[in-house]
Amino acid sequence: MSEKTFVVEKTCPVCEEKTRVVKTRSRLAVLKRDEDGCVHYENFNPYFYTIWTCEHCGFAADEKTFTTKMNDRHLKILRNELLKNKFGVEFVEERTIKNATFALKLAISYLESVEGKFSKMAKYAHQLAWIYRDAGDEDNEKIFLQDAATFYDSALAKENFPVEGLTDSATIYLIAAIYWRLGEYEKCETYLSRLMKDDGLRYRDPKLYDKVRDLWGDVRGALRDAKK
Ligand SMILES: [Zn+2]
Repeated sequence: MSEKTFVVEKTCPVCEEKTRVVKTRSRLAVLKRDEDGCVHYENFNPYFYTIWTCEHCGFAADEKTFTTKMNDRHLKILRNELLKNKFGVEFVEERTIKNATFALKLAISYLESVEGKFSKMAKYAHQLAWIYRDAGDEDNEKIFLQDAATFYDSALAKENFPVEGLTDSATIYLIAAIYWRLGEYEKCETYLSRLMKDDGLRYRDPKLYDKVRDLWGDVRGALRDAKK
């Protein structure tokens, strides 16, 4: 087993049975960060372990969802969906790309069932894209980057920020960064221009302001080159 993870037992909020789940240790050496927030670590990918799965009923969600009381409407929908034919997700201590992407896709599908938060769907779709990026699978990376952008955009329209540790400005920046990675420079520019017009950003969030300025320079350059 990897010394970067450890196994604990938790009670599944849906079927209420005990299931083994994997936690990651927090001290990891960062190799690099991509402009869209993907962090690369040495010999380890913590995005593999964002989602816990239940060995008994197949529920999949993040640690917070597993360990905090779920609202009754969500619980009812999930129990209806999962308790009839409990398919379970096999417990593996060291996840492969297949295990990890399956868990994230499952978590998104349950969020869709309960009409959960777009910001969470966005986060998981984005992490799926990052796992495929790490694996060099560009086709799947692009599919989930686009999904993440669409979910982030719905979150902007429908949720009260901050959500998932993101302000609305940080979310607009992420969408722009995703379109930059997808090579869709005009869309990238459109989102960034919303932040460039925001005079308060430089004082509210100087780090984000710097990232916006950097990407703005890059995308304007790319658009100029495209016109030549
Ligand atoms: Zn369960």
